[in-house]
Amino acid sequence: MKKALKIALSAVAVATLIASPLSAKKIRWKLAMTWPSTLTPLASPPIKLAKLMKEMSDGEFIIKVEGKEKHKAPLGILDMVKGGQYQMGHSGSYYWKGKDINTVWFTTVPFGMTPSEQYAWFYYGNGMKYMKEVYDKFGVYVYPGGNTGNQMGGWFRKEIKSVDDLKGLKMRIPGLAGEVMAKLGVNVTNIPAGELYTALDRGTIDALEWVGPGMDIKMGFHKVAKYYYTGWHEPASEMQFLINKRAFDKLPKKYQVMLETAMKAVSMDMYIENFAASTEAWAKMKKEHPEIQVKTFPKPVMQALKKAADEVYADYAAKNPKFKEIWEDYKAYMKKARAWSMMSQYYYLQTSKDLEK
Ligand code: CA
Repeated sequence: MKKALKIALSAVAVATLIASPLSAKKIRWKLAMTWPSTLTPLASPPIKLAKLMKEMSDGEFIIKVEGKEKHKAPLGILDMVKGGQYQMGHSGSYYWKGKDINTVWFTTVPFGMTPSEQYAWFYYGNGMKYMKEVYDKFGVYVYPGGNTGNQMGGWFRKEIKSVDDLKGLKMRIPGLAGEVMAKLGVNVTNIPAGELYTALDRGTIDALEWVGPGMDIKMGFHKVAKYYYTGWHEPASEMQFLINKRAFDKLPKKYQVMLETAMKAVSMDMYIENFAASTEAWAKMKKEHPEIQVKTFPKPVMQALKKAADEVYADYAAKNPKFKEIWEDYKAYMKKARAWSMMSQYYYLQTSKDLEK
């Protein structure tokens, strides 16, 4: 018995010795995200991705996730992944519009597609093809990284009754939506997540848009701005995973497939997580914060926003052939997909609501 145990133990020792050079070949990657590590659900996809990759690879593929609090460069993710300091990143494509305006197509655009429509365009239309074309020059691969769903139009200190009320207003609003607002006289700025509340509280800005009730209420914006507007500008904000091309191309095929599959799973999960969070927060908000005034911009303001958006698109299309190509493809897809959205979701919601009267 004793002898058998000894043999068994030495077999374990040999197995450990054999295993150790293998474990030295572990893949160790670093991922930098635009968000602080605590800012879920935006930070959820990378955190869940790291866990999934570790488990699916039996501990052979380790991803260390670093939030903004560690690397201090929330809007430097693309450069850091391109340069190889990080093999992966998690951010929002429209933050790079200063580098290439065509990056805006892969987050969301004002008066654009809903999440279902946009996912259909990404995966079964030309979305991913254009994503690859646009990001090729940066030396990175880009994948969808989780959707917030339709966002709220933002928090305003004062009620917006006319287009004139927008003139001179200082507002944090990123992407093409910022350019649309600027056309109507808004003084637009982009401020990282961690500094938003202070900026609004100190009056550095008069208004801001962030995400939706699930994420907004815990930021405390309602304490300093009580008008909460419905959205028009970010109907389907998709986050993004960025991967350094050289690092990805060197991976064994099985890890490439594992990574692509895991990214898709955690992205879909973020969409669900944020929908659930907003469902809870909306119900709670109605009860606990009756002072919050939920508003929709008056029709003349919406018409002015739509007109300004069309002008912004037309201006870029006139000077950027790639923008024109993607815009036409996007518009054509949206037209087709919207017809089905109306038939399936809109009429269902409408008819069910009518029955409750
Ligand atoms: Ca937003």
